[in-house]
Amino acid sequence: MCGIVAYIGHRQAYPVILKGLKRLEYRGYDSAGIALINHSLKLYKKRGKVVNLEESVLGQQVDGSVGIGHTRWATHGEPSDRNAHPHRSSNGKLAMIHNGIIENYALLKQELIKKGYRFQSDTDPEVLLYFIEDIQKKNGSSLEEALRIALKRVVGAYVIVLVDEDNPDTLLAARKGSPLVIGIGKGEHFLASDASPIVEYTREVVYVNDYEIAIIKPDELVLKNLGNERQTPYIQQLDLELAAIEKGGYDHFMLKEIFEQPQTIHDCLRGRLDMANKMITMPGIEKNMELIKNANRILIVACGTSWHAGLEAEYIIEELCRIPVEVEYASEFRYRNPVIHPGDMIIAISQSGETADTIVAIEKAKEQGAIILGVVNVVGSSIARLSHAGAYTHAGPEIGVASTKAFTAQLTVLTMIALMIAKEKGTISGERYLHLLNQLNELPEKVSKVLENVDLIKQVALRYVGASDALFLGRGYNFPIALEGALKLKEISYIHAEGYPAAEMKHGPIALVEETLPVVFVATKDASHEKIVSNIQEIKARKGKVIAVITEGDHIIQGMADDVLPVPETDEIVAPVINTIPLQLLAYYMGVD
Ligand code: GLU
Repeated sequence: MCGIVAYIGHRQAYPVILKGLKRLEYRGYDSAGIALINHSLKLYKKRGKVVNLEESVLGQQVDGSVGIGHTRWATHGEPSDRNAHPHRSSNGKLAMIHNGIIENYALLKQELIKKGYRFQSDTDPEVLLYFIEDIQKKNGSSLEEALRIALKRVVGAYVIVLVDEDNPDTLLAARKGSPLVIGIGKGEHFLASDASPIVEYTREVVYVNDYEIAIIKPDELVLKNLGNERQTPYIQQLDLELAAIEKGGYDHFMLKEIFEQPQTIHDCLRGRLDMANKMITMPGIEKNMELIKNANRILIVACGTSWHAGLEAEYIIEELCRIPVEVEYASEFRYRNPVIHPGDMIIAISQSGETADTIVAIEKAKEQGAIILGVVNVVGSSIARLSHAGAYTHAGPEIGVASTKAFTAQLTVLTMIALMIAKEKGTISGERYLHLLNQLNELPEKVSKVLENVDLIKQVALRYVGASDALFLGRGYNFPIALEGALKLKEISYIHAEGYPAAEMKHGPIALVEETLPVVFVATKDASHEKIVSNIQEIKARKGKVIAVITEGDHIIQGMADDVLPVPETDEIVAPVINTIPLQLLAYYMGVD
């Protein structure tokens, strides 16, 4: 994730790159760095904001008309000056920036360490850079050839850009699975993760495709595939304004992030869900599996949307792993006197990893001998550092205030953790385990299918914008999703909304139901389907308006509800990831109107 900017041409590269990195700041990042060539190769790197980098460079010589710059969102190795990009090759000649994850870096690193390489950082891109350097040395090949050979062995996603002190009139770039735009000027080229750093210099751009290598000189751009065949660059004219580019053409970051979910869920599964070997691998969990699987009970502490992910995890872990689970609001837990025994395990869930209540809650539990397992999005954050074990959600920076893609990534990670524990404890049959792996694997595609229904969801949302209240109901695995749907609506549209277990309606809230009240049911096919059909009847009997998230082809509910939002069929354990998507869009469109 995050940002890259590079320049080659007749201008001073440093101001162009620095300004470009500032343009990319909206994407979120934890450190920044620039490499310039002016006879020799110079690197400037700093943890924190681009302005920190700028200040640290003040007074230094920053000449050169070729350079690369990066804002990092750490995935491997904490945010620090040392781990910031660009990285330098061991012979000092090459510098490289990278966005994405090199999944097989650990294996490559071992091979390189055996050959005598010593690493300066904890990151995956440094491994790729040394690997390229090693091929160059061993085969006597050009940098371009070495890059091609290396990329054929790389598993993962990347945009990389390389500069070579010995060949300062050429930049090399490559992409797979992360974005790269090249702006074409007169005798100059601009590279960036999106067009926002480029748009003020030129409107002519080329979007590099997956598995392409770009060889860029001031006045020449050559694209090749990994088979060394030339490709014809497809030059487009940019017609978007800066603000629109930053939001990827979407009106708001929230909408952009909702639509990123097929990719973020894919990123979250990447390198973990191993369909070839029919298993899940997460080193942070495996290393501590003895402690985890023998935990007497699990306490989940979280706030807000993360608490809803925690509630879902309670249902899933109890079902699959047969370990008792309690879910706590961190803000309550920290101020009361909870009973914690050594051997209890705490799962702390937080997007930022900096949620103050959650931090204090886990510090308290840690003092009393609990094992802490962190599920956070931001690498190296306080909760990640306080945890004994954990797994990152890899959803990329979340800019929108209402959490969307971080929530579905949390659900995905927590389901994978539950499956790992269940397999280790023998509380899941081989058949069910394999079935759920397949269901996880199909998630990105099914989420894409839901997003294709955006126009329908928008139409439904617009029918209810005038509502002053709304109820969200679900049972079983769909109950936490009902809570999350209500929270999204409150946050985004300021409409008063409540989430309830559907069967609780009859114990009071049903008195509120009247003709003007929209009642949103999360009613996909699962073990409690028949029961929720009865709950829908109860609402219809009181003339409430029913909007139902249903499994495609569910004619029973379709015949009863006022509006339906169909989603693809899946197992009830992974269904929450899919079922939450229409509710995010519903909240968004009820809010923006
Ligand atoms: N995986 C790389 C790292 O942790 C790149 C992360 C990014 O895309 O910024 O350094």
